[in-house]
Amino acid sequence: MLVDIHTHKQTESDNPSIRNLTFSEAEKFFSTDRKGLFSVGIHPWFINEYSKETIENLIKWVKDERFFAIGECGLDKNVEIPLDQQILVFKEQIQLSERVCKPLIIHCVGCFNELFDLKKELNPVQTWIIHGFRGKPELAKQALKAGCALSFGEHYNSESVWVTPLDKLFAETDESSITIVEIYNQLATIKLCNIDDLNAGYVLIKSYLKHIIT
Ligand SMILES: [Zn+2]
Repeated sequence: MLVDIHTHKQTESDNPSIRNLTFSEAEKFFSTDRKGLFSVGIHPWFINEYSKETIENLIKWVKDERFFAIGECGLDKNVEIPLDQQILVFKEQIQLSERVCKPLIIHCVGCFNELFDLKKELNPVQTWIIHGFRGKPELAKQALKAGCALSFGEHYNSESVWVTPLDKLFAETDESSITIVEIYNQLATIKLCNIDDLNAGYVLIKSYLKHIIT
């Protein structure tokens, strides 16, 4: 099972994926009985578009069994929204993740120190997955030491993949057209392991499904 932990596309593949929904997609999806596993969150780029009602919607949908993870959420230094405001909205989603016991899919651009500080301050137990990780191995090691997991997509630094232990290593297609199988093959080549050994995504999904069924 080659889990795609973060994609914006609807895939026809037999491999399970966590599809990221926009708020308007979520509005439609959670009122139907369509199957699948999804993530929804307030992305730092779009914080200004949201209101109190947005968080209320998120709290309503998050109870749905198909709602697997909160995200993308996080911090981005390249947007004009002040970092204080981004941190506030991110914190609300961290607290929600802890309250409902669901992982976080994190978007982080240039704010890794702030991210690690939040991790230390709030000491969360839920899995934090930094998605689309492209950083150098030094940054990967820092993130791992802080207790984060890393997800690799089409573009990544091979040495960072190499230093990431298998239980913290996830794979994603995000918005790219490369297949998840291709990404897993590349990662397995770097890790000098069998493709089936790259099972962090599968383990996370399995423990989630067990938890909602029992
Ligand atoms: Zn994405």
